[in-house]
Amino acid sequence: MCPGCDAALAMTAATLPRQRPSPLANLIEEAKRTAGGPPSPPPDEPGDDEGPLYAARRKIYPQSVSGTYRRIKWIVLLITLGIYYLLPFVRWDRGPNAPDQAVLVDLPGRRFYFFFIEIWPQEVYYFTGLLIVAAMALFLMNAVAGRVWCGYLCPQTVWTDLFLAIERWTEGDRREHLLRDRGPWTLDRLARAGTKHFLWLMVAWWTGGAWVLYFADAPTLVKNLATFQAPFVAYAFIGTLTFTTYALAGWMREQVCVYMCPWPRIQAALTDEYALNVTYRYDRGEPRASLKKAAALHEHGAPAGDCIDCLQCVHVCPTGVDIRGGPNLGCIQCGLCIDACDAVMAKIGRPTRLIAYDTDLSIKDRQEGRATVYHFVRMRTALYVAIIAVVAGVMTFTLATRTAQGISVIHDRNPIFVRLSDGALRNAYTVRIINKRGERREFALSLSGLAGSLIDIVQTRDDGRFVVDVGPDQTREVRVLVTDYVDFPPASTPITFHLYDVITGERASAADYFRAPAGG
Ligand code: SF4
Ligand code: SF4
Repeated sequence: MCPGCDAALAMTAATLPRQRPSPLANLIEEAKRTAGGPPSPPPDEPGDDEGPLYAARRKIYPQSVSGTYRRIKWIVLLITLGIYYLLPFVRWDRGPNAPDQAVLVDLPGRRFYFFFIEIWPQEVYYFTGLLIVAAMALFLMNAVAGRVWCGYLCPQTVWTDLFLAIERWTEGDRREHLLRDRGPWTLDRLARAGTKHFLWLMVAWWTGGAWVLYFADAPTLVKNLATFQAPFVAYAFIGTLTFTTYALAGWMREQVCVYMCPWPRIQAALTDEYALNVTYRYDRGEPRASLKKAAALHEHGAPAGDCIDCLQCVHVCPTGVDIRGGPNLGCIQCGLCIDACDAVMAKIGRPTRLIAYDTDLSIKDRQEGRATVYHFVRMRTALYVAIIAVVAGVMTFTLATRTAQGISVIHDRNPIFVRLSDGALRNAYTVRIINKRGERREFALSLSGLAGSLIDIVQTRDDGRFVVDVGPDQTREVRVLVTDYVDFPPASTPITFHLYDVITGERASAADYFRAPAGG
């Protein structure tokens, strides 16, 4: 063919009307392409790492839902809030000279009381142990079931859930609330919004109020607060916590999880492919299509997944996430989308758990025809359990075997020693004696490790023994002077102070040194 004819044909082809594929053909094509494959995440998902650092808040109207996970969340909410609000009023008899509040942080008395346990300032290492156990428990939860802490136990989640329940009660469920928000301000809308904020503030105020009750005798403090006789700091704390609870649970909600909380970032670095997470089973759900479209696809022999694209899972989500887009920093793993999707599946007669606690690995296993195996016992879970067991074991042992008395010694720093007029050397110490019992006790103090020395305790009774009287549940500091008459003593001699209860004979000791000039 001549070049002129080629050009003419090309021009004709370009000017002919193109035959457009029908919408059904497009649908079939799309269905074949996406069958069983992971869907791409929506572009403006909260917590999407590719998105802007901060996006203007899109108000979320989570729809109410019922089901297994919702019930678990209600139970956890009732238990945790019940403990928080009521625990300060639980009494625990510790005898006549000790407070009878079961859990009390006694800042003036420098004690922490937890039922039968009483922690002294010298024993803050128990808190270190407790923090290690708490951190390991969080890591373990994460290794087994992802952000289960965030979804069920985190205070932000629990209080937000409570505030959302109040919002639904006053302003209606998602649809009703949405419609009202889009309409004009009417008296009804004003009254509902006013009631909601009043109730939110009441809950926030009681939350702040409950917090301060852990720091003083609760019934007395409640009376003092009501009669305006409580210390200013109590009102200041209540005010601050009222504000933070109202702002965080009422206004900021999911923004705290998406932008403020560090745990999702840490959690993402700690997790692995075996951890169970709330997962959209795309192997079953894709290609998603409405019931009508799915019927059309089946008619033409094309695949259609179980997801009918009803968006119920998105509407119930408290953080506005579409879980079908894959793992997302905004997803707190609360499981509410599982309940929503299960209800949809039950309604249309398909198997439930299209969204479920699962792993990407098991989806791949199913796609490749392998049996799904969940690996709960792994190196990291075994390690976390071992650390928890060791730390908890050590803490339990030391708590069970700790003594009811203690002694600590501080050597005078300046001067370290004094030479007396008769040539003897004297060292001075501050000795603190601890009586952890609720009764007055007498302790005898003695010294070993320094032959030929004299011990003198300032302001105590000397009846052949040095006896120190210590009040119930108190400590007492005494000055101890140790005089050594040995010629040319070594520069540093290890010595031990011994303490024993003159009635029961219970003992404690503390080591220190007797200092002398180098070379005598
Ligand atoms: S609720 Fe279930 S069916 Fe509906 S969109 Fe979500 S995953 Fe699909
Ligand atoms: S996506 Fe599902 S599990 Fe994640 S926060 Fe939303 S409702 Fe909860």
